Amino acid sequence: MQHILNRMIVQSMETDRSWFEGDLMERFLRYVRVHTTSDPHSASTPSTERQFDLARMLETELRSLGSTDVTLDEQCRLIARVPATGPGDPIGFMAHVDTAPDFPGEHVNPCVHERYDGGVIELGGGFTLDPAEYPMLSRYTGETVITTDGSTLLGADDKAGIAEIMTAVAYLTAHPQIHHPEIEVIFTSDEETGRGMDGFPVEKLRSGFCFTIDGTDEGAVEAECFTAYKATVSFTGYSIHPGSARGKLANATSMAATYIAMLPRSESPEATDDRYGFYCATEVTGGISKASATIILRDFDHDIVKRRISYLEQLARTIEGSFPGGKVDVNVDRQYLNMADFLAPHPEVLDRVRKAIAATGMEPVIHRIRGGTDGARLCERGIPTPNIFTGGQNLHGRYEWIALPAMVRASKTIVNLVQLFAG
Ligand SMILES: [Zn+2]
Repeated sequence: MQHILNRMIVQSMETDRSWFEGDLMERFLRYVRVHTTSDPHSASTPSTERQFDLARMLETELRSLGSTDVTLDEQCRLIARVPATGPGDPIGFMAHVDTAPDFPGEHVNPCVHERYDGGVIELGGGFTLDPAEYPMLSRYTGETVITTDGSTLLGADDKAGIAEIMTAVAYLTAHPQIHHPEIEVIFTSDEETGRGMDGFPVEKLRSGFCFTIDGTDEGAVEAECFTAYKATVSFTGYSIHPGSARGKLANATSMAATYIAMLPRSESPEATDDRYGFYCATEVTGGISKASATIILRDFDHDIVKRRISYLEQLARTIEGSFPGGKVDVNVDRQYLNMADFLAPHPEVLDRVRKAIAATGMEPVIHRIRGGTDGARLCERGIPTPNIFTGGQNLHGRYEWIALPAMVRASKTIVNLVQLFAG
């Protein structure tokens, strides 16, 4: 097994820095201008047809880079293969084409600040990006920084990830002397609506391991996320005219309110951080005869989430006891599982990621996310998938920005990583 990076290749990538900068800049500026905002209120997949605009563009580009088996399906999932130049099991890289529906993503006009002077950046519309508020900016004094014009988001989440993968593929295609196994490139739709992996054709993938390129700070890898369940609690009351209700009415709205009030405040999102999970009521609707509450359950430890599920069931019986004639049903759906449990049997994967990041000149940092990723959904379907940084900052809003050297290092990390999987 070739576990030591070829020093010659690392050095030659250093001399290719301006090539990486040029290729990334051209791709990133082009991709962010394509309007790909997803829509959480749409029932279709993809949630917005516009996501195809970028997916089709990438389909053509991957074909012209010599990728094989390039397929774009009706759900806007693009899968392509970069042929192997050496032995080894296939590995995958994944990013998403949509941008967050939380903020306008149409008419994105990226602003390039070359040789950033370290001061306050005027975005436009009176909005500014101040290093006093966002100290990470100072790290890139003298470098190229890309921001919004203050009116839209930038879309670095996740077009930076897409550009970084595409540039790495272009580099590898131009340097067939670099040994790597087959690489699967996977671009998905609707990551931001949480539905991107619903019905994903995992059987089409050959990779034993995948990497989402969808994180933030340079050098960071996310290898642990919440285990997540969603409970839908239905309250059925007994309805009768309030004027003659004494001893008879079971008010479903009162039942729901009491139920939610009995969730432990010490285990709420606002009372927890670090390794501690929570209950969080995210929606309540109701009338006298029927009400419904949605409660999400999160924790890093699966047993603790199970304990919370059983508390919700016991609480249903308690509420039924105190509202005679009323009924409470709890339905629980699993959303995603902690990817750490799937990565634990394969310590070599994170080891190689650490090596690739260090070889690119950064300090690797393994993070825990208080949320989930599309990678977590792939993990439970048999493909361990940690999340690697893109360099993007202040995601999902007008203050989003990214530094070009961070993108270069993300792309080079991919080039270094694939070599560590060459058998
Ligand atoms: Zn993302």
